[in-house]
Amino acid sequence: MSDADSAAPAAVMQPRPRVVIVGAGFGGLWATKQLTDAPVDILVVDRRNHHLFQPLLYQVATAALSAADIASPIRAVVGRYPNVMVLMDKVVGVDTEAREVVMMDGRKPYDYLVIATGAGHSYFGHDEWASYAPGLKSIEDATDIRRRILLAFERAECLSDSEERKRNMTLVVVGGGPTGVEMAGAMADLAKRALAKDFHAIDPRRARILLLEAGPRLLPTFAEDLSASAERALNRLGVEVKLNAPVAQVDGDGVIVGSERIPSRTVIWAAGVAASSAALWLQAEHDRAGRIKVNPDLSVPGHPNIFAIGDTALAFGPDSKPLPGIAPVAKQQGRYVGTLIKARIAGSPGIGPFRYKHYGDLATIGRKAAVVDFRGWHLHGFPAWLVWSIAHIWFLIGFRNRLIVATNWLWNYATFQLGARIITRCTD
Ligand SMILES: Cc1cc2nc3c(=O)[nH]c(=O)nc-3n(C[C@H](O)[C@H](O)[C@H](O)COP(=O)(O)OP(=O)(O)OC[C@H]3O[C@@H](n4cnc5c(N)ncnc54)[C@H](O)[C@@H]3O)c2cc1C
Repeated sequence: MSDADSAAPAAVMQPRPRVVIVGAGFGGLWATKQLTDAPVDILVVDRRNHHLFQPLLYQVATAALSAADIASPIRAVVGRYPNVMVLMDKVVGVDTEAREVVMMDGRKPYDYLVIATGAGHSYFGHDEWASYAPGLKSIEDATDIRRRILLAFERAECLSDSEERKRNMTLVVVGGGPTGVEMAGAMADLAKRALAKDFHAIDPRRARILLLEAGPRLLPTFAEDLSASAERALNRLGVEVKLNAPVAQVDGDGVIVGSERIPSRTVIWAAGVAASSAALWLQAEHDRAGRIKVNPDLSVPGHPNIFAIGDTALAFGPDSKPLPGIAPVAKQQGRYVGTLIKARIAGSPGIGPFRYKHYGDLATIGRKAAVVDFRGWHLHGFPAWLVWSIAHIWFLIGFRNRLIVATNWLWNYATFQLGARIITRCTD
């Protein structure tokens, strides 16, 4: 050993900061990607093994696409990065004293924690409605809804009682936001075009499809002319739109709106959203929907190393209005938090508060109409549908998914056929 060697202090390996990201939806994945080139060890925990492109879930629910077309295994998306480990487990709490995430199958330590656990359905205090009116959030929800819709027509074909047949052929969507509008339009396409010639005892074109909205117009977050355009497009497809129609009851016989009972065996819930339970894990201040009120840098008050992003966070725009629960917010927040963590690790003072850039709103109505608001520039009808289609294919994750979805849409468009009309689990 040389003198120089013996004089040098033993090199002490500093452990790399551990970043735990809970949830591999839009927020979690974009945060992960931002950190893959940073000197950190990342652990992504999700209760599912796939990232889901929720904006196209309604197409799985209405048999236009198959589940695998809009989902990608999380490992396939981020598992190839040497500093990313993926665990499939459900997080049930956070031990902020010990700085550990508590999962069903153990605990994991963190230096930085990003919570991106999204949202679920809210039945506004009527959880008993859930079994009669499923919401649309996961692949299981979408395939369950597809099963209910297709079974309703199969049942109607077998029935001789005209009232029961009518009840089976009445499909109700509750909630006139983008999901409700897209569901109702796609259900009309399914009944009035794809299924039209496939039955003998019934005529699926005579199916009654209702869209119930408690407020005075559809798409309340869009400009008024686009709401009106969406309503006209739905009417053209044969959807009955009822505005100022809050639902008072949902049960096995259908729904009650005001004093009217609408008999139906298929009710879809697209009316309310509730954030994940992350606020409870952290005992954090939250709004009525359960969203954690975050600081301007998206950290959770009192916990500078814990961040909440996406649908589970309540952050405000420059106009002091809450940011909407949409994918671009979650993605931009994910990217921002990744950049902030990198800056902190590099010892830089910070990168300023999070600022959201809103590029526009889109919603589609059936197979050839949509409404688009791109920074105040409004588009309706087929041109809007083209913009909507290109945007959704562009934003899908994975070349295979893009190719399959584009091919499916072209096929559906040219033939009126929907390929994913498979009923699984045939009993009610
Ligand atoms: C039907 C539907 C249609 C939509 N359409 C549009 C649209 O057209 N345009 C648009 O911009 N937005 C749309 N959205 C909203 C958009 O999908 C959400 O805003 C976005 O997904 C939020 O991203 P996120 O990362 O916060 O949560 P999510 O994408 O929901 O991801 C949350 C992740 O956390 C995981 N998770 C949850 N709890 C736990 C736990 N306890 N432990 C471990 N993992 C957990 C989940 O499995 C999931 O992978 C739509 C949403 C739905 C449901």
